Parts: sequence; structure tokens; C-alpha cells
Amino acid sequence: METIKLKDLTFKPYIRREEISSAIKHVAKQINKDLADKSPLFLCVLNGAFVFAADLFREIEIPDAEITFIRMKSYIGTHSTGEVQMISGLHEDISGRTVVIVEDIVDTGFTLLQLKEMLQECNPAEIKVATLLFKPDSLKYDVTIDYVALDIPQAFIVGYGLDYDELGRNLKDIYIVQE
Ligand code: 5GP
Repeated sequence: METIKLKDLTFKPYIRREEISSAIKHVAKQINKDLADKSPLFLCVLNGAFVFAADLFREIEIPDAEITFIRMKSYIGTHSTGEVQMISGLHEDISGRTVVIVEDIVDTGFTLLQLKEMLQECNPAEIKVATLLFKPDSLKYDVTIDYVALDIPQAFIVGYGLDYDELGRNLKDIYIVQE
């Protein structure tokens, strides 16, 4: 596979679609087992998680599982702004429910912490977290992540729903920035 250029940055192939797919199947299997009798509501965090959520949710075999979407924004370019905004909110009643946050990537954990705090105010029975990617070396906040598909190092990546200034979301594989 070739390197690609998005605006001023060059990215090289990093995780192929086959590896992503089997990691997602593995996570889905765990969720199917753990939450079988919980009527889980999956909460896809837009924009980045839409591709992951679509693939993950199709592997969920819990008949009464549901999915809904919220929209958050914290990154501009390749850096976190340190501020998280919920741009489009939650319309479902989550009180007493098992909610599974579906994230594209957990970096410092700040977005996730903020989101969990917002959701706690609505009194869910429990909040679980499933993320496609996790950067363990970047984590700064005390948040529990229940399901991780793939661990990655502290570097900027794009593809499979993740963007660089809105570009690269349509790439089928995950690419890493070339220093
Ligand atoms: P955190 O709040 O955990 O520091 O950052 C989480 C958010 O930052 C993610 O939902 C994602 O939007 C963005 N982010 C963090 N690392 C990366 C990365 O390597 N690539 C891309 N495209 N976005 C990232």
C-alpha cells in the first residue's frame, strides 16, 4: 500500500482492514456475552465513530440492542482543543438503561470523561465504553474503558472514520502520520 497525502501531512499504512475487522469481531463477541440480557443502548459518538459503530453494531447479536448518535468535537487539526462540545444531543431516555458509548479513539480520555459525566446526570443503570483505538501512553484521566479493539502508540492516525481536518474518513485502512 502507498503513502497518502492529506493537506500538509503524509500518512503511511498502519492497520489493515482485515486486522480491524477481526479486532471488532473479538470485541463484539465479548459484548454479546456480557450484555446479552441488558437491552443495551449503543451510543455512537459522531463524527469519528460512525464507521466503527456500523461494523460493530452489525456483529451484535443481542435481539433488543438499540443504537443512537450524539455529536462531539474536541480536535482541530492534529491537536486536542482541550474543550469538548456536544454539538448534537441525546434525545433518548437513558434512565435505568445500560448505555455503551462507542468511541473511535481514546487519547487523553478527556472527551470520554466529559461525556460520561454528562450521561451520569440522566441516571443510566450503567455506562460501558467500547473504543476502536486506545492510546494507553496518552491517557491522563481516570476513565474505565471496558472494550478496546486495538491499542496504538502516541501518534496521529487517520482512516476508517477518523479524520485530519475532515479528510481521510473514507480510507478503508488506518494510516499513521509520517514524521
Ligand atoms: P481525548 O479527549 O481522549 O484526548 O481525545 C479524543 C478525541 O480526539 C477522539 O474522539 C478523536 O476525535 C480525537 N483524536 C485523538 N487522537 C486522534 C488521532 O490520532 N487521530 C484522529 N483523527 N483523531 C484523534
